[in-house]
Amino acid sequence: MLRVAVIGAGVNGVSSAIKILEHYQDEKKLNVQVTILSEQFTPNTTGDGSAGLWGPFLLGGTEESKVHKWSSDMHIFLEKIWRSEDAGEAGVCLVPCVRLSTDPNAVVGDFWRDIVYGAVDLTAQQLAVYNKGRDVKFTSGMSFVTYTSEPIKLLPYLMKRFVRRGGQIVQQKITDLDSFVKDSSYDVIVNCSGLGSKQLLNDDQMYSVRGQVSRVKANWVFTALLDESDDGNYIIPNTESVVLGGTHQESDYDTKVSATDKRFIIDGCRSLLPGLKHTEHLFDWVGLRPGRTQLRLEAERRGNKLLIHNYGHGGSGVTLCWGCADDVLNLLLAAKVNAKL
Ligand SMILES: Cc1cc2nc3c(=O)[nH]c(=O)nc-3n(C[C@H](O)[C@H](O)[C@H](O)COP(=O)(O)OP(=O)(O)OC[C@H]3O[C@@H](n4cnc5c(N)ncnc54)[C@H](O)[C@@H]3O)c2cc1C
Repeated sequence: MLRVAVIGAGVNGVSSAIKILEHYQDEKKLNVQVTILSEQFTPNTTGDGSAGLWGPFLLGGTEESKVHKWSSDMHIFLEKIWRSEDAGEAGVCLVPCVRLSTDPNAVVGDFWRDIVYGAVDLTAQQLAVYNKGRDVKFTSGMSFVTYTSEPIKLLPYLMKRFVRRGGQIVQQKITDLDSFVKDSSYDVIVNCSGLGSKQLLNDDQMYSVRGQVSRVKANWVFTALLDESDDGNYIIPNTESVVLGGTHQESDYDTKVSATDKRFIIDGCRSLLPGLKHTEHLFDWVGLRPGRTQLRLEAERRGNKLLIHNYGHGGSGVTLCWGCADDVLNLLLAAKVNAKL
């Protein structure tokens, strides 16, 4: 029997657990047990308040070629779900997007534009529409079509898929990773504890990137509008509400809603889309993104145990989760710990 523990039930933990379980079951190697151990589950993970828009964002110095591969894998995964009968349950939507920049030296989405559908640069005439009434002008922009997969729906869908295949779930906070790896009965431990890794591994390369958003009822908004500037706002439609954002404050661990941030969000989004003046405000939410100097996805041997790290996904955990889970599985297979199966 091969026993695998996945620590963390955010988008990265659940995706990694499913990838491993489904791989061995599809290979008819049924002597594998996969368990997710986590302090929190949906709807209390970092992704649960996010809009889940596909798009690489806030990833420190993570290599672009890796981000391209991981995010491309997720796009293909979302396309499959969207084209299946699970789309509604999983909260996967195909949405038009407009990304705008006020930085004359920046090219919007230059390294991933081949992944999304129909990416085109905005013309000067189109930019003028968004620049109307603005003091700081947008200098470039791109329109394209991609997916949202709001984790508040995606996570329950993935958890169900995991349990249906016989995956185990345990509510547990790991306080000492070294002892857990050494003393538990698991052969493989996959660490997907997000910002929890800062404490669990004493990882001083990790920091929070605080994000505050507001959710409003605006059923007439079908397009995501994003201002790429450092102090820019964004508007992202989900199935039942629209997310207005947002902040990205590094090394800020305050999870309380800030009235100042709320004003910045509401005013900024209204200046992008004046119609938002007449919307019903639903609630505000704060999450701490697991920021890191670069995403950590690697394996290490601890005696006869294998420890795989998959954390530090910054502002792109949803965008990268399926691709990163693929690499987790590849690291596991390369380590040949399944020799006893
Ligand atoms: C406002 C906001 C908007 C965002 N928008 C988007 C977006 O549109 N698109 C996108 O791709 N990304 C977005 N993100 C980023 C995304 O939400 C995160 O990158 C992602 O949720 C990280 O997932 P994770 O599974 O790595 O970590 P988490 O979701 O943080 O999960 C970590 C898990 O580990 C568990 N854990 C931690 N420590 C321990 C421990 N010691 N023992 C046991 N369990 C432990 C936790 O309980 C939790 O279950 C947004 C984030 C925020 C805050």
